Amino acid sequence: MTEAQLLSGKTVSESVYKSLIPRISDLKENSITPGLAAVLVGDDPASNVYVRNKTKRFEKLGLFTDTIKLSSDTTEDELIKLIEQLNVDNRFHGILVQLPLPKAMDNQNVLLAINPKKDVDGFHPVNLGLLTAGTPSFIPCTPKGILRLLEHYNIETDGKNVVIVGRSNIVGRPMSILLSLKRNPGNATVTLCHTHTQNQKDITRSADILISATGIPGSISDQDISNDTVVIDVGINRVEDDSEKGYSIVGDVDYNSVIHKTSAITPVPGGVGPMTIAMLVENTIEAAESTLSK
Ligand code: NDP
Repeated sequence: MTEAQLLSGKTVSESVYKSLIPRISDLKENSITPGLAAVLVGDDPASNVYVRNKTKRFEKLGLFTDTIKLSSDTTEDELIKLIEQLNVDNRFHGILVQLPLPKAMDNQNVLLAINPKKDVDGFHPVNLGLLTAGTPSFIPCTPKGILRLLEHYNIETDGKNVVIVGRSNIVGRPMSILLSLKRNPGNATVTLCHTHTQNQKDITRSADILISATGIPGSISDQDISNDTVVIDVGINRVEDDSEKGYSIVGDVDYNSVIHKTSAITPVPGGVGPMTIAMLVENTIEAAESTLSK
């Protein structure tokens, strides 16, 4: 069998950033600096790292970003009031509320408060509805990044069996809708698995492309795929180890087990993660561009 192709989100995201530079310059010529407000509630260390990684990229590209940190005892009303202020603050074209929120808050109420035109994460029901109707506006960053990765490496989805494991509103479900749309990439026959799925192995073994987004390290091995399946590993999981940091980051997929069987695979880290950040930047630039045509 030929060696598996590595689908590098690091490489593809760099080419995305390169393609965005002229668009950023055009905006700046029109006195617009694309801006992102990142809202972080509580002190979850992983969320801190995610927000930092995202905003670092905005700074590197000369974009405007501000991270607003709120304590974990912030109420839902206080957070919604803040979002309402950000909705009318012209410095920000995009608003990101880092999930998960404290348990006392209702995610849906908070996401509903974001102006859909600034919803660069694509989680607002208006944007999810447009996506479902086949006329997407802001596409959630992780599924969008996966589509871009597949496109870049000329991985055909038309007529293929795609199996997605995990049905969250931020990854699995929008991914399943996008890949089933009558467009390219898309036109796939999609199966969405979750914890109630029966005989999951039989289903995943039928996949031409398998996308795992469960957050369960090592849950996909060579027993779950057929020869030459393309494997997209969305998982970002902290696993304790003896290293200096005390943990390492692994995906859902047992990489060493599947590498001999797959035709192409995303590494973790360096696969889907960098694409998610690149798509957040791209969506924020799109949001800024939409203010030009007013
Ligand atoms: P959620 O916990 O919201 O959803 C997990 C999904 O997986 C649920 O639908 C759940 O099913 C399903 N699931 C869990 N265990 C199993 C199992 N054994 N068999 C089948 N299905 C299962 O997670 P997220 O979607 O937010 O994130 C998933 C992973 O992706 C995490 O590791 C997260 O860190 C990572 N992630 C990575 C990103 C990136 O940029 N690379 C971006 C976002 C997330 P059910 O609905 O029945 O409970």
